[in-house]
Amino acid sequence: MGKIVINENGCKGCALCVNACPFSLIRISDRINSQGYYPAELVDPEKRCTSCTLCAITCPDVAIEVYREKKARVEK
Ligand code: SF4
Ligand code: SF4
Repeated sequence: MGKIVINENGCKGCALCVNACPFSLIRISDRINSQGYYPAELVDPEKRCTSCTLCAITCPDVAIEVYREKKARVEK
């Protein structure tokens, strides 16, 4: 399980990350950021992000940070 954080105001809306995600979890939002671009956003209601980092590696503006969430230990 993972998640990404997109620096909205550092994003130019180029959509390279949209195409990079193997699970199609990123889309271009309908908000406008401080630079006048429509930034990317994560849409992952089913928690499918694997922290693969492909989106972050692809971003030319280094606007994506990737986090890996630790699994909660289940006690019986
Ligand atoms: S880290 Fe991988 S799975 Fe998660 S949003 Fe980025 S490309 Fe998609
Ligand atoms: S690749 Fe980077 S700059 Fe381009 S839309 Fe995605 S987050 Fe924004």
